[in-house]
Amino acid sequence: MHIVEHLIAGRWSAGGDVSTVIGPHAGAPVANFPAATPHEVAAAVAGARAAQPDWAATAPAARADALRAAATAVEQATGELARTMSAEMGKPEAEAAGSIAAGVGTLRQYAELGQLHAGRTLAGDLGATDLMVREPRGVVAAITPWNDPVAISCGLLGAALVTGNAAVSKPSERTPATGWLLTRTLAPHFPPGVLSMLAGGAPTGAALAESAVDVVAHVGSTATGRAIAAAAARTGAKALLENGGCDPLIIDTGVDPAWAAQQAALGAFANAGQICVAVERIYVHADVAEEFLAALVKEAAAFEIGPLVDLRHRSAVHGQVVDAVDRGARILTGGTIPEGPGAWYPPTVLTDCTDEMRVVETETFGPVAPVVTVASFDEALSRATRSPYGLAATVLTPSMSNAHRAWRQLETGTVKINAVFGGAPGGAAHPRRGSGQGFGYGPELLDEMTATKVVHLESPPGGW
Ligand code: NAD
Repeated sequence: MHIVEHLIAGRWSAGGDVSTVIGPHAGAPVANFPAATPHEVAAAVAGARAAQPDWAATAPAARADALRAAATAVEQATGELARTMSAEMGKPEAEAAGSIAAGVGTLRQYAELGQLHAGRTLAGDLGATDLMVREPRGVVAAITPWNDPVAISCGLLGAALVTGNAAVSKPSERTPATGWLLTRTLAPHFPPGVLSMLAGGAPTGAALAESAVDVVAHVGSTATGRAIAAAAARTGAKALLENGGCDPLIIDTGVDPAWAAQQAALGAFANAGQICVAVERIYVHADVAEEFLAALVKEAAAFEIGPLVDLRHRSAVHGQVVDAVDRGARILTGGTIPEGPGAWYPPTVLTDCTDEMRVVETETFGPVAPVVTVASFDEALSRATRSPYGLAATVLTPSMSNAHRAWRQLETGTVKINAVFGGAPGGAAHPRRGSGQGFGYGPELLDEMTATKVVHLESPPGGW
């Protein structure tokens, strides 16, 4: 059982009401964590504010060295971090270790890219010097979710710290011990106060978003992102939002149905569907629908997943399935809550779905594949585009002209053709609509964490 503490201005402490994380595998307690009060939030932000100028004045190469050393420490702590992440949110330990390796890789990338992240000189009057310089924004609040807690935190914190900001991390109340272990591993590599951590849930996050920070970076649900954007509008902080999605998968005529089913299962069921870019709705061409559905049912039966994060989330996922059935969907496999402890839920395939069902219209964030049969590729494209979200989309098609049309027409940050996951390193997109704003990852996150200043430098008349 972990006992989580806050890190405020370089000191560990445990104020606030205590809650317990119940593990989703067997329903046993995993961690106790306190909820930081508004007073503690203010103290962490003040500590960060006090520590930031010296950190900003530290040579970029020295900041990069600190981040590199922190990355190695996280790598060495992989075993304990993976066990804790798995116990708190259900991801199998081997997958948790893989996502920690991704976080370590991100820290190392930012260590290298951070010291190269510079401005430029302008072609001005020869009697003057004109520059565009990058400066840290100041104090960055990083408010993060539970579904990939280490990799996401490493991205935001790495980019914030290497560019000379101080950071206040607020991990999810569903993975507080993972966030606390990560902070314990990272913090010794930075001067006291440069990295702080506050445990707690929505009220702590809201207090941090309302506080005197310069950037609020949030990865999480759309509803929370909107509340944070409103808070940032009041304080003048910059809001950086990577929020929910309801990603479509379009399956064109002429596609091998067995392969399409493998892709659909991977997209919908990996991490028990708890991935921001999971496949949330499937539009399949009538020509291949029957064979595709039969193959998808087989894939679902063979797909091994961990439990959902907790019972509350399982009820929400199951509620969407029940709502769809009430409105005419048919369950082809799964769709029932298993007996016994834990938050398990089976890979589920629904057919006869319509766009009006909640399971199609909004994010489910569970192992559910709702299938809509369409008469044409064009119909699939226009229905896929009609969405309050704009995170990512996948198209499976043998037609190059349909592929070209699709990537131009889909109004999402990311479009993947003929592979449900994948993409080159360094690819970063702008999410659209309810899916957020700004670059939440990739080299461009360094731009978000800094402010550009234009300098015009001229000698005074008669000066020397
Ligand atoms: P969430 O928004 O409920 O919680 C995320 C963080 O926000 C937590 O730390 C939480 O305590 C905090 N929070 C909650 N209410 C708040 C408030 N009013 N003010 C300030 N902070 C508040 O999201 P979640 O359930 O933890 O995560 C799942 C969601 O995250 C899904 O919607 C998923 O799509 C999204 N997600 C998006 C990406 C992406 O890159 N776009 C990546 C991972 C997860």
